[in-house]
Amino acid sequence: MPEIIIISGKGGTGKTSLTAAFAHMAADAVICDLDVDAPDLHLILRPEIKVREDFHSGHEALIDPAACTACGLCAEMCRFGAVSNPPTGYRIDPLKCEGCKVCVQFCPAAAIRFPERHCGEWYLSSTRFGPMVHAQLFPGAENSGRLVALLRQKARDLARESGRRLVLSDGAPGIGCPVISSLSGTDFAVLVTEPTPSGRHDLERVADLCRHFKIPTGVIVNKADLNPENTRDIQRWCETARTEFLAALPYDPAVTEAMVQRQTVTEFSADGLSTDIRRTWRRILELGSRKKHPSQ
Ligand code: SF4
Ligand code: SF4
Repeated sequence: MPEIIIISGKGGTGKTSLTAAFAHMAADAVICDLDVDAPDLHLILRPEIKVREDFHSGHEALIDPAACTACGLCAEMCRFGAVSNPPTGYRIDPLKCEGCKVCVQFCPAAAIRFPERHCGEWYLSSTRFGPMVHAQLFPGAENSGRLVALLRQKARDLARESGRRLVLSDGAPGIGCPVISSLSGTDFAVLVTEPTPSGRHDLERVADLCRHFKIPTGVIVNKADLNPENTRDIQRWCETARTEFLAALPYDPAVTEAMVQRQTVTEFSADGLSTDIRRTWRRILELGSRKKHPSQ
């Protein structure tokens, strides 16, 4: 079962609009939104949540005011400045607490609890294009890499159980922990960029990352006609970087109009850009379904 991911070195390249259009094209996929810090694929796919689960990661210290004797030892020992002493009594700032447990162990009154940290939620949903796995990390919550790994496993399990033949993921932007977590075991990564110097720079960084993990890649330049010269540069770079140049997609206001209607551009209009997207998707599917060479 191939796993295909759509990523970009930075935000704002149109990655999610393209993923949504590919989800429309892919008749037999489990769709997975791995951008857990700022998910937005659901805005177009409008999933109906069937299963909602809490995501816990790490621990946080909590002072029980009834048991606290106000000795101040926890504030002295916390190296992260998480303990404060307002007039209402000692308290721990959850955003500063690193969960090191020192205060819990040294509190003479055993007044500090250490529960698991509730960091977000994940969901199994249905959409008009098939099942979807997605999540929302709470603001300030960390460990998005672990949540991404969890979502990928859920998507695989769901694909197996429902007989779907593909996992199609919208990856996080950038090259940080969530992207790294989303790449391991992926069969093919589509790198979406824009024809600007910063787009090219970010493309090279994310392509390096994929090369490191030996993941075959293909490149889409979105809004390519806004700078044909830069688009040609990227195309030439692809030849030297052993990555396939998949498509130069033109700017099309239909993308925004479709988004306002909460549709994919391929639903909104069958012509123009949608024709290019359909052709590109067929090629992605072909490349993503190839057996990996043992040396890869
Ligand atoms: S160490 Fe324990 S008893 Fe002392 S201030 Fe902190 S929570 Fe209260
Ligand atoms: S668990 Fe560690 S970081 Fe959190 S308040 Fe206690 S000492 Fe500070």
